[in-house]
Amino acid sequence: MTNVRFDGLVTSLEEVQDNPARFATRLERAKRTSGYAECLCQSAGGGKPLRLVVRRYGALFHLARWPDEGVYHKRDICSFFAEPTALSGASGSEQEAIRTTHSGLDARLDVSRTVRTVGAVRSESSPGDNSRAASRRSAPLLGFLQRVWQDAGLNHWSGGAQRNWGTCSVQILAVLGEGKMNGKPVQDVVHVMRRYEESELPTIKAEFDAFLSRIRTTPTESRRGVVIAEIKAIEPSKYGFIVRLRQTFEPFYASKALVESAARSYRHAWPMIGQPEARVVAVLVVERTKDGNLRAVDLALQLCNRAFHTVRLELRGRYGEPSCGRAAAVRKAATAGRGRRHAARLPSDRHSAANRNRDLWHGS
Ligand SMILES: [Zn+2]
Repeated sequence: MTNVRFDGLVTSLEEVQDNPARFATRLERAKRTSGYAECLCQSAGGGKPLRLVVRRYGALFHLARWPDEGVYHKRDICSFFAEPTALSGASGSEQEAIRTTHSGLDARLDVSRTVRTVGAVRSESSPGDNSRAASRRSAPLLGFLQRVWQDAGLNHWSGGAQRNWGTCSVQILAVLGEGKMNGKPVQDVVHVMRRYEESELPTIKAEFDAFLSRIRTTPTESRRGVVIAEIKAIEPSKYGFIVRLRQTFEPFYASKALVESAARSYRHAWPMIGQPEARVVAVLVVERTKDGNLRAVDLALQLCNRAFHTVRLELRGRYGEPSCGRAAAVRKAATAGRGRRHAARLPSDRHSAANRNRDLWHGS
C-alpha cells in the first residue's frame, strides 16, 4: 500500500481510506491551503511526489487521482495508477456519456431522474440542455458502475489486508467527487452506502436520511435517486420483491418485472447473492411510492469476489452499448438462462419485462 502526504503528515493511503473521519480536519486544511495532497508511490525509487485531488463529500474528504496523471503512479502498487486508455474520458468529447473532469465524474445515465406522473409525460431535459447536450450519449447503469470501478482502481488492488466495503465506498466517492449526473450535482443524486460502523452511526444515518429526503413523489412528479451498495438479499414479498442492502435496514421494494429482468440480465451475479464467497454490488435507481415507501425502478448488478474485484462481465449494458440493444440482450440472457435453477424459480415472462422496464424508466 502506498503512502500519501498532506498537511505535513505522511501516512498510508489505506489508513486514510479506512478512517475518513479521523483525517477530515487535516484534509480540509490541505484542500484549503495547498489545494492538493501528494501520493508518494514513486518516492522510494527517487521519483517525485504526485498530486492528488482532495474532494469533499458531505463532512468528509477523499483523495482522488489527479486528472490525466494516473499513468505516472506505480503500476500494481498504487491504486491511483490507471492505463492511459482508462482515462480516455478525460479528454473525451462532450458527447461522451461518462467523462472524467477536474471536479469528478460527469455522467449522463440512461435514466430519467424526474418523472412527471400526470399529464403528458416526456423525457426529462436537464437545465442547460440544448441541442448539443441533448445529442450526448447516455450510459446504461452497469456501464456506469463498471466505469466507476475502473476509475477508482478497484480492479488494480494488489495484496494487503482483505479489502472491505469501507475502502470501496471511499474510493468510489473519490471518483464521483463533485461531479454531475444528468446535469445535477452527483452528491445530491447519488448515495454511496457507507460501511456500517457503530461509532459512525449518527453521521451515516444523517447522510442517508438527507439523501432519502430528496427522493420525493408529489401528485405531479417523482424525483429519483441512485444508490450504490452491496446487495444482501432479494426476497419475495406480498406485492413483489424486497431488495435488501448490506449497509442499511431500509427496504427497497421492486416489481416482479424488474426482478425477473435482473435475474436474466445479470445471470452470473444473480445466483451469487448472499453467497459467502461473493460480493454483489448494485446500482439502484429509486423513487418513492405514493405510500412513502422506497421502490427500485431499475438496477444493475456486478459480481465481485470477496475482495470486491469484479469477476466477469455481464451480458447486459456494456459501457457504451446503446439502450435499444438492451432488450435484445435481455432476451438473449433469458433464453440462455431458461431451465436454470434460479431463473426457473421466478414467474414466467409473458409481456416482455424489458419493455415494461423501459416504461418505468421513462414514465411513458
Ligand atoms: Zn501513487
